[in-house]
Amino acid sequence: MIDTHAHIDADAFDDDREEMIRRAFDQGVEAIIIPAIEPKRFEGVLSLCEQYDQVYCGIGVHPHNANDFNQQAETRIINAMQFPKVKAVGEIGLDYYYDFAPRDVQKDVFRRQLRIAKECRKPVIIHNRESDDDVMEILKEEQHGELTGVLHCFSSNIHVLRTALDLNFHISFTGNITYKKSILDDIVKATPLSRIMIETDSPYMTPVPHRGKRNEPAFVQLIAQKIAEIHQVTIEEIIAMTTRNARALFGLPLLMIGLIIGLSTFPMHAQDERDEEEEETTETVKTPSPYARFIGLGPSIATNTIVETLTSLDVSEKRGTRSWDGNPAFGFSVAYNPLEFLMFDLGLMHTRNNAKLNNANKVPGTPTDPDVYTVGHLTARAIANPRGKVSFFASAGINYLSKRVYATNVEFSDDKQLAFNAGAGFMVNIPTSYGMIIPIAEWRLDFESKNNVTKIPNVDPYNTWGNVEISTFYSLPKLTILWYPKF
Ligand SMILES: [Zn+2]
Ligand SMILES: [Zn+2]
Repeated sequence: MIDTHAHIDADAFDDDREEMIRRAFDQGVEAIIIPAIEPKRFEGVLSLCEQYDQVYCGIGVHPHNANDFNQQAETRIINAMQFPKVKAVGEIGLDYYYDFAPRDVQKDVFRRQLRIAKECRKPVIIHNRESDDDVMEILKEEQHGELTGVLHCFSSNIHVLRTALDLNFHISFTGNITYKKSILDDIVKATPLSRIMIETDSPYMTPVPHRGKRNEPAFVQLIAQKIAEIHQVTIEEIIAMTTRNARALFGLPLLMIGLIIGLSTFPMHAQDERDEEEEETTETVKTPSPYARFIGLGPSIATNTIVETLTSLDVSEKRGTRSWDGNPAFGFSVAYNPLEFLMFDLGLMHTRNNAKLNNANKVPGTPTDPDVYTVGHLTARAIANPRGKVSFFASAGINYLSKRVYATNVEFSDDKQLAFNAGAGFMVNIPTSYGMIIPIAEWRLDFESKNNVTKIPNVDPYNTWGNVEISTFYSLPKLTILWYPKF
């Protein structure tokens, strides 16, 4: 099942686009084609195509937006035709019902886009409302023998249908054929199955019994059902034919798993056709992952609490813990996701122990530079629910720690060692036209692998302890913002 016309980039889906697309795939929809309507939405449409393997698009300017068509828009449309997910020029056409743009402008813009389609050898997705005569006249004039396309949301009369079929066009039907007052039954009946396609025109044209609600691609099956009733064939046959027609017209790759899921939803009839399609099948459906195959990068901030456990080697029974909290830490991360539920994070954090310095400064003769910690980390995050808008994870990894701590009254000592990190947190997936933005809130603990033996400097309250063995860990509530650019 292919929804050949769904505006799923529309604002109406901003709150639940991911779930809405998932519902469609769950219902057996194998592919969705988004027709663009205006230049300022091109990027959004293309980015949805990049996010979902089964989402394709047409790029073009709708007659409502004909006033926005200019040289620059024309160039963008032509350039877009080389992207593999762009399968058509559209949505283009005429709309004399709303007349949002002057008719002369609409006609000119329509014609110029038909010429792009011919030049780029792409099919066109045509919108026609109360403009039958001019649409058909322009199509006749522009049909040079190889122009193909679809008249979407077909609602015209039998003469227009016949002309369209003569001109080698496909016919796509949507929710209005399910309405009680529909007068389109004869038109549907007169459309040969070899030319018919189905669409939702989401979020508009909601089919019965959902009429009045927002439309979405998961409902496209209802259009197939209605066509099956009118043609008196099984819905499986309509699904097989419309899918085949859409694939052939738009040049869509075949998707085996989608096909099987789609078919398994229905009782097994029309086996011959299905077998044929499965034989042709070359690709498998890859369910979209928000991160997989991508590299992200971004800055981190944290407040670092440094916790030391001290054991005196010279004075028995002297053991205690002290900590310095609220030390700002800064860093960055580069992330790579080989699998959707696994993220590797390579990065660096830098902290200065200002809290300790402030404490020490109360004592005369104390240092004026803070202890400095620089830690490189390689962390693996196991993501529990990568498809969620908010996903939770646990993490673990190793650190390379370099610290320079105040050791005596006058000297710093340098120390380099391995450390281990463990943490947990959540991330939020925010798709944007520039790529995915993922804020990550994480609580991380870093444990030093070896203890330090040192003499506590005499400005320190612990200096009566003599030589002291110190084990250290760091508590870092951390915020990282990763950007997964599109490339
Ligand atoms: Zn339309
Ligand atoms: Zn449309």
